[in-house]
Amino acid sequence: MTTVAAYAAPAAKAPLERTTIERRPVGEFDVLIDIKFAGICHSDIHQAQEGWGEAIFPMVPGHEIAGVVAEVGPGVTKFSVGDRVGVGCMVDSCRECDNCKAGLEQYCAKGNVPTYNGIGKDGEPTYGGYSTHVVVDENYTLRIPDGLSLDVAAPLLCAGITLYSPLRHWNAGPGKKVAILGMGGLGHMGVKIAHALGAEVTVLSQSLRKKDDGLKLGADHYYATSDPKTFEELRGSLDLIVSTVSAPLGLDQYLALLKTDGAFVNVGAPEEPVSLNLFSVIGGRKTLAGSGIGGIQETQEMLDFCAEHGFGAEIELISAAEINEAYERVQSSDVRYRFVIDTATI
Ligand code: NAP
Ligand code: ZN
Repeated sequence: MTTVAAYAAPAAKAPLERTTIERRPVGEFDVLIDIKFAGICHSDIHQAQEGWGEAIFPMVPGHEIAGVVAEVGPGVTKFSVGDRVGVGCMVDSCRECDNCKAGLEQYCAKGNVPTYNGIGKDGEPTYGGYSTHVVVDENYTLRIPDGLSLDVAAPLLCAGITLYSPLRHWNAGPGKKVAILGMGGLGHMGVKIAHALGAEVTVLSQSLRKKDDGLKLGADHYYATSDPKTFEELRGSLDLIVSTVSAPLGLDQYLALLKTDGAFVNVGAPEEPVSLNLFSVIGGRKTLAGSGIGGIQETQEMLDFCAEHGFGAEIELISAAEINEAYERVQSSDVRYRFVIDTATI
């Protein structure tokens, strides 16, 4: 075991503070990663506040990890010391179920092992990326392409893949009108990726405050959902809406924006149920779906795609001492567009 520095929430809703945690010894197929940057996902906040149900404390959040391999186990074949790598939302899965075999490890029938707030195969709690080092099996470690700086690559490991996977699955591309609902950490990656895939991109945001940014990142249109005219103008016009909204939302008015056979795909994970009138999907044969992160191979594909297209995330780099303030700003939709912790400050 190695003792390393970390930032942890000691209990639900308590401010995060500096502490130390134990990392397991580097096993046969493990890599030891010297973490350089860790993104702050809204999921970190939901979990640190126990908004999704009972959680494990102390909690070291962080599932947008970018760093450099510092040591490899004797059986490791995919990585060498010095490689630039990333870790996302899961660090293991059963590897045997149909989903794992199909590269859908995020939907592992036995449940994947989350990067934090989970129990590893060794029976110990998992601790995430707000830390200086982590030990991860090579099969759940991603390669960060040379063209991407580690700081802007970190948020791709969750925000990037969470948008890439549904946009690919629902065929966002040329000739498709795609809306991204919520212009936050996930949403801004949705704009970049949908644009790079060739879709016509609309942002649906609460206000027009971030309109200039949205257009710069690749949106063709930008509407405020606080303006009732938005819902008149866009009625029946969209092929796909991906919602990244972190709070409960009435779905009916958004489903009305879809064309016949359009799909509303939810990736936002609010703590409370949402309301829906089923007539909203009956008329127009609409699909209401959800999507969770992406598989390991697909995550690698997403990293390569972003590098080819020359973009990472838009970030605000912070020191570890600023984490609690950053949490407050994320909760008030005041982030452009992802806080990333410089782990050298832990
Ligand atoms: P974020 O940066 O806080 O972005 C969420 C955006 O939602 C905000 O920027 C805001 O956009 C909009 N929003 C927030 N409150 C709202 C409200 N009351 N009404 C309408 N819109 C509101 O959060 P994030 O890190 O992108 O994460 C978004 C959600 O996705 C979280 O619930 C997170 O847990 C979840 N998530 C899911 C997955 C998955 O695999 N499915 C993966 C990662 C995260 P505007 O300011 O533009 O209105
Ligand atoms: Zn996340």
